[in-house]
Amino acid sequence: MSVDKVDEVRTVVADGGIGISIVVPVYNEKESLPELMSGIAEVLNTHVPNYEVVLVDDGSNDGSFDVIRSLYSQYKGRVKAIRFSRNCGKSAALNAGIAQAGGEVIVTMDADLQDDPVAIPEMMAKLNEGWDVVSGWKKVRHDPLGKTFPSKVWNAMTSAAAGLKLHDFNCGFKAYRRTAAKNLDIYGERHRYLPAMAHWDGCRVTEIVVPHHARKFGKSKYGTWRMFNGAMDMITLLFLKHYMKSPMHFFGIMGMLMIGIGVGILGYFGVQWAIYGEMRIRPLTILAIGSMVMGVQFMSIGLIGEMITNSQQSRRQYSIREKLE
Ligand code: UDP
Ligand code: MG
Repeated sequence: MSVDKVDEVRTVVADGGIGISIVVPVYNEKESLPELMSGIAEVLNTHVPNYEVVLVDDGSNDGSFDVIRSLYSQYKGRVKAIRFSRNCGKSAALNAGIAQAGGEVIVTMDADLQDDPVAIPEMMAKLNEGWDVVSGWKKVRHDPLGKTFPSKVWNAMTSAAAGLKLHDFNCGFKAYRRTAAKNLDIYGERHRYLPAMAHWDGCRVTEIVVPHHARKFGKSKYGTWRMFNGAMDMITLLFLKHYMKSPMHFFGIMGMLMIGIGVGILGYFGVQWAIYGEMRIRPLTILAIGSMVMGVQFMSIGLIGEMITNSQQSRRQYSIREKLE
């Protein structure tokens, strides 16, 4: 990276305070941690000296936290550590780490040495261009085919659903402006959709190609099948995006439609009965009654949804990009 690029990077970070926080979720990665820390230190000591590393141990049972403890004393003042009492998932770990992060820029990266910290200064330069989120793109990926192929399909689907074209939504390596990261509500398995969530929240999201390495120690915590959970999460997210504020707009219309079909068919039979005096139970009658029952159910679900949404009014309804005080 050129010298003026480095200067540019420096202006992104706040004077004095912690400029950049690196948040790392850790689940059974004890062999990788020392190399991870030295790699980060090597890059950031020269490029962005005011940094901290927030290590979140997601309930490891391989002694990762003992390693974290020794890194905590080795890198005095640089390391913050959180230890979960059980394995709560990557989303929970990111959530806790971002909440602890004090930096103006928050970078998330995996602990397994697959993400290379050399890309951090470039990500920060990109933030400096005015982007709020810079997502990594593992263009040349060192993972098994059983992982890379479904991931391609899934990324294309997510791009279409999110209205944001990215090659690699689920890349763990990302840089955020502080407010963009803090505004994210990460839970469940939502870490796969963070760029989509940020985009929907009004953030300017872009991507850069980042180097990717094969896993050196341990094994992947995510198999191919875990992606199907991800597909379900996408449906939930899309629903919440459109109808969180007013669930009745979805369920109400479905309910009215079903009730309408039922009333239409029964009305037609009613008229026939009034005119010709004949009354027969036809399959269509059963369909009409079924349709009305379903319609009433849809309406009820919608109303319950409204009650839940209303009782959560304290939840954030807007997102602030900047404040002048
Ligand atoms: N991870 C975690 N909690 C979990 C699973 C994974 O904190 O329940 C961490 C893991 O230690 C790593 C990152 O999330 O730092 C990504 O996991 P992994 O490398 O297994 O995923 P892959 O790169 O194979 O998609
Ligand atoms: Mg990995």
